[in-house]
Amino acid sequence: MKILVLGGGFAGVEATIKLRKYGYNVTLISDRDYMFIYPVSIWIPVGKRSFEDTKLNLFDLQKKHGFNLVIEKITKIDIENQQIVTNKTIHEYDYLFIGLGMSKVYIKGMEHTHSICGKPRESITIKNELEKLVTKGSGSINVGFGGNPKDPTSTTVRGGPAFELLFNISHYLNKKGLRDKFKLTFFAPMAEPGKRMGRKAYKNMDSFFEHYHVNTHFGKKIKEFTKNAITFIDNTQLDSDLTLFISGGDGMNLIKNTSLPQNETGFVKINELCRVENKDNVYVIGDAAAIINHPWAAKQGHIAEVMADVSTYNFHNTIIASGKRKSYWEKLHIICVMDSGDGAAFVMRTAKKEIMIPLPIVGHWLKKGWGWYYKQSKMKRMFRIPGM
Ligand SMILES: Cc1cc2nc3c(=O)[nH]c(=O)nc-3n(C[C@H](O)[C@H](O)[C@H](O)COP(=O)(O)OP(=O)(O)OC[C@H]3O[C@@H](n4cnc5c(N)ncnc54)[C@H](O)[C@@H]3O)c2cc1C
Repeated sequence: MKILVLGGGFAGVEATIKLRKYGYNVTLISDRDYMFIYPVSIWIPVGKRSFEDTKLNLFDLQKKHGFNLVIEKITKIDIENQQIVTNKTIHEYDYLFIGLGMSKVYIKGMEHTHSICGKPRESITIKNELEKLVTKGSGSINVGFGGNPKDPTSTTVRGGPAFELLFNISHYLNKKGLRDKFKLTFFAPMAEPGKRMGRKAYKNMDSFFEHYHVNTHFGKKIKEFTKNAITFIDNTQLDSDLTLFISGGDGMNLIKNTSLPQNETGFVKINELCRVENKDNVYVIGDAAAIINHPWAAKQGHIAEVMADVSTYNFHNTIIASGKRKSYWEKLHIICVMDSGDGAAFVMRTAKKEIMIPLPIVGHWLKKGWGWYYKQSKMKRMFRIPGM
């Protein structure tokens, strides 16, 4: 039985490890030889974490868990012929787990912006651009995020890291004694950015903006980015020496070009078992999957891990002809520690509950601790805490 897992991110890595635990021979295909631990990459631009430290080497992981590892770029997913085409060869499969993440909506002039949610190395570019401005001694920095107009539920909006980067930059400039020399602005086209974290959390954002002396600019559609400005739909502009923008999530062309059932944004439609509708041998997990029936939910790393757990459990029980099944819908929730450099806020949202607890410096250390724990537990250097 040939099992392929596509994508060495949160979803693919966890699915591969779980499949090995069930005793299957499995091959992971990814285009990078490392997993990038995105949640802690927010500290790379402000020099609190190195790029190397934010990587988890897939060859080291392979040695610990005993899977086959192929570092190749996937160019075609051929569902009809059960083949994965890469830049080097063709891989056949009997069962497929897709965890390839997502792409971003393009807005005119976006090449003049940098994203902390883009290719991993972009975090280093942001660090270098920030350092240039610090050397200059003053400037205007704009940090924002957008949505996908085709996604009415906005499950593809990634706002948390924009807030984290913004507050960390404010704290960083403050420590350098330069805070009053910089204008920091948060911008977003939606009228109530951050509402996905829940009403309580959204209401509390004002106190964060005030505390970190951040101007706000909400509710106007972005027309275009240029080298030194952001232009909005009414032709008003924000001057900008550095624009950091997280665009709305979009399905990847690689997936849009397949016959897999998709929603209007190009994410794969799965059932609550994480299995593709009408394709019993294909599971889609993590950011690449469409979260349906739960419009309040968000795509997050820990949801990618939940999906990896649920899909592999259901796969295994199907193979051994057991009737046991798990649903990822039952485990959906938004949970994050939103870091601000000198503090944090714990945010939790479920279908019924909304919680936001300000955590002073302890929250900052908690998130730093999670980054360490994540690596150690994946490398089997410490036991896994259930649910983390
Ligand atoms: C800055 C930032 C901060 C975040 N903070 C949090 C947080 O605090 N908490 C939280 O829960 N979530 C957080 N998230 C969200 C979380 O990181 C994502 O939800 C998670 O990475 C999704 O996992 P994934 O495996 O689906 O996709 P990814 O992690 O994007 O992995 C996709 C994998 O597929 C590979 N790949 C892509 N295309 C190809 C190809 N053509 N061929 C071969 N391989 C390919 C990539 O190299 C990558 O290894 C954050 C995200 C960012 C960007």
